[in-house]
Amino acid sequence: MLDHGGHLAGLNDRQRAAASHGTEGAGPLLVIAGAGSGKTRTLAHRVAHLLAGGADPGRILLMSFSRMAAQELTRRVERLLAGSDRAWPAGALCWSGTFHATGARLLRENAGRLGIDPDFVIHDREDSADLMNLARHGLGLSSTEKRFPAKGTCLAIYSRCVNAGSPLPDVLADRFAWCLPWEDELKRLFGAYVAAKQAQNVLDYDDLLLAWAQAMEDESFARWAGAQWDHVLIDEYQDTNRLQAQILMALKPDGRGLTVVGDDAQAIYGFRAATVRNILDFPKAFEPPATVIALDRNYRSTGPILAAANAVIGQARERFAKELWTDRAGGTRPQLVTLPDGRDQARHVAGRILAAREAGLRLKDQAVLFRTSSHSAELEIELTRRHVPFVKFGGLKFLSAAHVKDLLSVLRLRQNPRDRVSGFRMLQLVPGIGPGTAARVLDALEAAPSPAEALRRLAPPPRAAADWPALVELLTAPAGWPDLIGAARAWYAPHLDRLHEDAESRRADLEQLERIAAGYPDCARFLTDLTLDPPEATSAEAGVPLRDDDYLILSTIHSAKGQEWRSVFVLNAVDGCIPSDLGTGSEAEIEEERRLLYVAMTRAKDSLALGVPLKFHVTQQARFGDRHLYARRTRFIPDSILSQFEQVYWQDPPGPDGPADGTEAPRLDLRRRMRDMWA
Ligand code: ATP
Ligand code: MG
Repeated sequence: MLDHGGHLAGLNDRQRAAASHGTEGAGPLLVIAGAGSGKTRTLAHRVAHLLAGGADPGRILLMSFSRMAAQELTRRVERLLAGSDRAWPAGALCWSGTFHATGARLLRENAGRLGIDPDFVIHDREDSADLMNLARHGLGLSSTEKRFPAKGTCLAIYSRCVNAGSPLPDVLADRFAWCLPWEDELKRLFGAYVAAKQAQNVLDYDDLLLAWAQAMEDESFARWAGAQWDHVLIDEYQDTNRLQAQILMALKPDGRGLTVVGDDAQAIYGFRAATVRNILDFPKAFEPPATVIALDRNYRSTGPILAAANAVIGQARERFAKELWTDRAGGTRPQLVTLPDGRDQARHVAGRILAAREAGLRLKDQAVLFRTSSHSAELEIELTRRHVPFVKFGGLKFLSAAHVKDLLSVLRLRQNPRDRVSGFRMLQLVPGIGPGTAARVLDALEAAPSPAEALRRLAPPPRAAADWPALVELLTAPAGWPDLIGAARAWYAPHLDRLHEDAESRRADLEQLERIAAGYPDCARFLTDLTLDPPEATSAEAGVPLRDDDYLILSTIHSAKGQEWRSVFVLNAVDGCIPSDLGTGSEAEIEEERRLLYVAMTRAKDSLALGVPLKFHVTQQARFGDRHLYARRTRFIPDSILSQFEQVYWQDPPGPDGPADGTEAPRLDLRRRMRDMWA
């Protein structure tokens, strides 16, 4: 008998019951519990327990919602096992990652028997929208009289159909009613989009799940795939969609070896077709039904923080998990800070953070959370002005930056000469090559048995004759890895200088990309990982802080899932931001916004504050210009629960050059005036 003391110590009774729930051939297990109750911790201990009991780490599939979260889980397992006689070398848990990354690996490794080309390239959402656009042009749908839905909308509709497993007419009726008249055209468009992906050997995000799920419909493949893993464990199960549940049920039809963990009160990905039904229906999907373990003790937050979070989620229409308790005594109620406007909020937050640092709290222990990436713009400016280093998660990704996409298009086109989205991008970097010429070149590559050969024989486009040989050389000369990315960067350098004014900081990004690339064994793995789970930190002008530097975390609430900080500030707790005016269509969407606020509040351990600017600034589409909106406190904190919060009013003290009588200098919107000159 093994000594289980080490890796089961530090768990309460219920957590221990979950962590040690059977080993070989154990029946299905669901751990459903509120925020901060130790679900992720229990999962890590369970894996350690399985390994200590002799399970083969190569036969454990561990999935979480991001690569970072999965890596963190793996590290925790390794720490738990360190020192025991069953410690594993790093990397032994080789099947740990996201659903999408696992799908990509499975499809690539089994491409032959699934009838797909193993060299497929993965398109991110932006590439997919571009390809959708090409298909839309191809069908002449962009020039119709009545305005056809934009590429982004088309992709959203398509993605919803795929991920929710719903027929097009239902998706249109439920969510895109204004597109109903276009049903036939959309159907044709999606057909053309799929054909284009196949012709170009491209898979999009949704395909990684769709293709996996479809492969699993074949019984013998499903049996073979299911037999690869003795244990399948999933964190944040409430945010999985229909396809993911289908895959799981096909992998382990009787549920043996299956453990899922989640919190229905934190389901925040309904907008991407995740369904909370997955977690709620999990127990009865099996015969005999799954064991359900509920955890109700919160270890993260102080009593007053938890009470306020409970009060917010207590207003939800439908709730399944029960109330959490904590014995973390002391602490103060969360603050509701009312401020004149967004700029004051930015100043207040920056001041608060610096004061906390003075008092001994590292920046890394503090986080500022917001509903939408753009909400932090004013704060980012203020932090930069005060030299407070920060890293931002969520929102615009490193990969969406034009220069990064340019460089990657070179690698992708080399890897797959049929990838038209990348082809169009790369070829048009060269002066003298426009869309027409690019299309002709790509047609020639597509038709040729050897694209490299074809490219070398092609006559140079007359207006690009000088630059042509270098381009051909880059795309066709043999190159090792990571030398290839160095060659691509050298080739791109003059174009970067020509195309971008702020070439200097962009060059630094590309150098960083090259460093990241050097950590990968080959180009294909690099491109796959980068596309599936891009490094999402952007750090404005502050420069990317080094790993061991102290820096503040700015994050969208979605990206803050599963994490915790000692001190948390939530920006814009006002209607129009939370709930977002993007998400106030239906009751279900409002409820999801309520859960988002719950997720945000439950990230805090010791101190929590929410900003309520009375006026905030929105940058709208160019033609409307910027404007100010008057806001009111979020409807998720009604008067009835106000007593859970401490109300504070904050006004920016006039600066040293401010008027002595306390009146504020008038504010001008110079940017608008300058634009209006040309309106
Ligand atoms: P979330 O819902 O936000 O994902 P969670 O349920 O996964 O939260 P964890 O992140 O695993 O919760 O744990 C929350 C915090 O509580 C962590 O700091 C963890 O170390 C601590 N914790 C959990 N269980 C215990 C325990 N039995 N004893 C002491 N600390 C614990
Ligand atoms: Mg967790």
